[in-house]
Amino acid sequence: MINDARPVRTGRCLCGEVRFDLMASHKLFVSCQCRDCRHVSGGAPAAILVVDRRDLRLTAGEEQLGSFGVRAESGRLVERQFCATCGTQMFEILEMDPEIRLVKAGTLSDQDGLEVDVTVWQQSEPSWWASLATSDVFERHFSDDYHGRNPSKDAG
Ligand SMILES: [Zn+2]
Ligand SMILES: [Zn+2]
Repeated sequence: MINDARPVRTGRCLCGEVRFDLMASHKLFVSCQCRDCRHVSGGAPAAILVVDRRDLRLTAGEEQLGSFGVRAESGRLVERQFCATCGTQMFEILEMDPEIRLVKAGTLSDQDGLEVDVTVWQQSEPSWWASLATSDVFERHFSDDYHGRNPSKDAG
């Protein structure tokens, strides 16, 4: 068999040292609101593509991958992999299911056509999450004269 398979998607970390191909479509797109995912992201829920282990191919920077293991509430180990240079969260390996890999959707070069299938750990959603729906919105950075909703800044 000639190995001429082309990736369906490609991705990389922020600095570009770690690169990967996805050789098949994901099985599921999960938004995870759990405390651990929010903690490592700095606040946002994790955007996770569930893929078969064999369909994730590292094409550069494998030696750059750092790893941090955390026990989930289930007691099983969750290994979180990230670029040791730029800190981008990239993959997760689950003790519970070693045949799959979790790939962070934000690392994909092209995210067109992706739609979240399911949200999990909604009970861990922080109270401020709902305020996104009513927050002020700018298409890009906020304008220089924007003082937000903080009354202390409106006075001047
Ligand atoms: Zn990087
Ligand atoms: Zn999570």
